[in-house]
Amino acid sequence: MAVTDKSVLYQHGTLSLLVPGLFEGTMTIGELLQHGNSGIGTVQDFNGEMVILDGHAYQVVETGEVHELTAEQSVPFATVHFDDPKVTTHETKLTKADVEQKLLTDYPYKNVFYAVKIRGIFSHMLTRVVQKQEKPYPNLTESTKTQPKFKQENVEGTLIGYYAPELFQGVAVAGYHVHFLSNDHSIGGHVLDYTLAEGDVSIQPFASLQQHFPLEDPAFLKEDFNYAGMSTSINKAEK
Ligand SMILES: [Zn+2]
Repeated sequence: MAVTDKSVLYQHGTLSLLVPGLFEGTMTIGELLQHGNSGIGTVQDFNGEMVILDGHAYQVVETGEVHELTAEQSVPFATVHFDDPKVTTHETKLTKADVEQKLLTDYPYKNVFYAVKIRGIFSHMLTRVVQKQEKPYPNLTESTKTQPKFKQENVEGTLIGYYAPELFQGVAVAGYHVHFLSNDHSIGGHVLDYTLAEGDVSIQPFASLQQHFPLEDPAFLKEDFNYAGMSTSINKAEK
């Protein structure tokens, strides 16, 4: 029985397990969606960027194409929640930096995880998509050396992702980590930059973080993580 607690942020795997290249899928989409109907992540073999909206998990692959993932496909890392925004405001003409600063200024949530969702028209959207890797998997720095980028102007869609306090760098990406999917699926991926022309900006703070680990994955269990270089590797690949 799924627990639909809207105050819980559920995460499978940690961002840090991607750093040494642990890209094996360790949770199915079917199971993941029991823990949330919205979110972000990546797919088995680091095969693209995942965007979960309204209970559907979409995969944006390196060619830019968007596929809906099936219940049997699996993910090494994903963060999900049940959509229930606490505040939604209608905004116009905001850059990425404007939005990020505004949310931290307008709400008292800098020390907690919160979801950010923006539905609207973006006058500029720039995304990137990671490329599918093959075993033996290279590390995150190697895997993200070349990343296809996608750009569109005046595109309507949904931006979704999370803010994590600095303390959680490694568990997640400290600061903002957001993905995008256009309504017509013509562009999506990990968001590098955008300007919001007009849209609804929502936030949803979480009282709890539920961190789930891939207990059945021998590679994860025996990995000796290099924590000293981890933060740099994460920022290089994910910011
Ligand atoms: Zn991402």
